[in-house]
Amino acid sequence: MKLLSYITWLFQNNKCFWCQKSEHFFCRQCNDNLKLYKPYCYVCKKESSNFLVHKECQIRFPLEQVIVLTRYRNTGIKKLLRHAKYYWKHEAYRDVIFQNLDFFQKHLDSDRKNVFIPVPMHYFRRWKRGYNQSEYIAKNLWNICQIPVKNNFLKKIKYTKQQSHLSKIERAKNLSWVFFIRNNIVDKNSTIYLIDDIISTGSTILEIAKLLHINGYKNIRVICLASD
Ligand SMILES: [Zn+2]
Ligand SMILES: [Zn+2]
Repeated sequence: MKLLSYITWLFQNNKCFWCQKSEHFFCRQCNDNLKLYKPYCYVCKKESSNFLVHKECQIRFPLEQVIVLTRYRNTGIKKLLRHAKYYWKHEAYRDVIFQNLDFFQKHLDSDRKNVFIPVPMHYFRRWKRGYNQSEYIAKNLWNICQIPVKNNFLKKIKYTKQQSHLSKIERAKNLSWVFFIRNNIVDKNSTIYLIDDIISTGSTILEIAKLLHINGYKNIRVICLASD
């Protein structure tokens, strides 16, 4: 646990990351300036309704849909996500999700038997950070659509280096035999929504998707707050 940042968090004022004015971590006014992604296919980057991955693109990337709220390059959201992830400002997720309620409700397919699976962290990294940010995002998404969250279904069993610091080959090696599934917790016919804060290379998500496929789960989707 980062003790110093936790103590700072206890005594801080909750101000908006962008304008420093409001009581919220991310105020309504600043959210209006947030550029939302137009629905596209995560693999080929071409337009696609509801962020669905084209059938031909699913051969390379076995996911049905990757919902991305906004661009990580956006300086305000970059700062917010960094603080929410590393400095105990996870309440910021609530503001971002509640203020973009329409966006998430529009793109989530509520007719399916859905389940939210936060991307897991190794217990040692979680202990160092104090929490898993993906679980907070999933919890806040549950608040707006009541799709059940299963925190214990997927486990990270190997401690890995940060993917962003590695080459493509190192990334693949780094992620082999990293995740483990507890079967019987999630029905095989469910649609699994993997939840994460940022999707950059997509290699972690891809590794999890492959494991889920091997174990008989075919309907795999992703929701993340930002991407490159
Ligand atoms: Zn603001
Ligand atoms: Zn495509």
